[in-house]
Amino acid sequence: MAGRRDWTREDLAAGVREGDRRALARTISLVEDGDPLAYGVVADLYPQTGSTYSIGVTGPPGVGKSSLVSALIRHVRTGAGSVGGQAADARPVDPGASGAGGRLTVGVVSVDPSSPFSHGALLGDRIRLSDHFLDPEVFIRSMGTRGHLGGLAEAALQALLVLDAAGKDVVFLETVGAGQSEVEVIGIADTVLLVLMPGSGDAVQALKAGIMEIPDVIAINKMDHPGAKTMLGEVRSILALGRSLKDERREWNPPIVLTEAVRGEHVPELWEKIEEHRAFLEQSGQLEERRRANLAREVFAVAASRAGRHLEQAVGDDPELRRLLAEVQARELDPLTAVREILEKVFRIHDGDGDSTRAS
Ligand code: GDP
Repeated sequence: MAGRRDWTREDLAAGVREGDRRALARTISLVEDGDPLAYGVVADLYPQTGSTYSIGVTGPPGVGKSSLVSALIRHVRTGAGSVGGQAADARPVDPGASGAGGRLTVGVVSVDPSSPFSHGALLGDRIRLSDHFLDPEVFIRSMGTRGHLGGLAEAALQALLVLDAAGKDVVFLETVGAGQSEVEVIGIADTVLLVLMPGSGDAVQALKAGIMEIPDVIAINKMDHPGAKTMLGEVRSILALGRSLKDERREWNPPIVLTEAVRGEHVPELWEKIEEHRAFLEQSGQLEERRRANLAREVFAVAASRAGRHLEQAVGDDPELRRLLAEVQARELDPLTAVREILEKVFRIHDGDGDSTRAS
């Protein structure tokens, strides 16, 4: 592999800061591979992060998420977008990384947990973003399950940080479906956009049952299809129900926008709602709060996932610990005693000590 070892940690960090596409691509590949060099680069870049606005885009496959992201990019790349009520070029970023003429610079991290492809491979026909491949201020990256020892959510967060340090004004985190790993990926976004279309009945039921969290903004795409208005009514009544049951003082009522992604209809309105949500978060102090909570949750989630992997491996490698499991399976040892012994051995967590201290 030519090049991989040519980059030093310093080269990569400096390249990313300048918004250099090759440095960006290389760093994100290293992130995907769980290469230790990537940890160093992200650690170096971290102090420069925090100015990107991230938008999580979720919803069932086929509703038009990629098409809509593509249309939103087209919109913000024509200079119609602004960030936090400011012109984009007023933002104090590295001039080399900033878009010209008030046009926002964009990153896209497209995550498909079901795809074995990675490293920027196009995820089949699903990606409708090819219009933007030639735009130097739009950086698009797809991630599948390849590699990712730390999980997709971890890789997506690291990629987001890299794009943030590169000075991207906005980053879209796009996922294929609404499964658990997608929820984790979306969980780090500032604004969550749920995309539905006429016929997304399952997703609407999930919203209704409270299985799916209420997003910040909802797009009902394919408004050219019959049934879009009916779906609008349904979603509206679910949100109204949620409001009256849960919290009547809910300050932010998720707006619903009907869109047609291919022709770009109502896409400016959708962008406006995303910006309104941002303004709401900023003015109410919730943006800071949300980011703090997201980062803390992310650190815990990654730590927990690594601890889990460590545990599995330790038990797998240790005949004595495997024997404990066998004893539980043979009903010779109760499960919690096995848990206590395993935790004691692997993590030196002395569960029993705590209990006895309390009892004495
Ligand atoms: P994703 O899987 O949610 O990312 O969906 P895609 O963006 O790949 O779109 C799935 C299909 O729906 C593609 O064939 C798009 O051309 C089509 N599509 C997307 N948006 C619209 C729309 O607003 N109206 C219609 N009629 N088709 C659309």
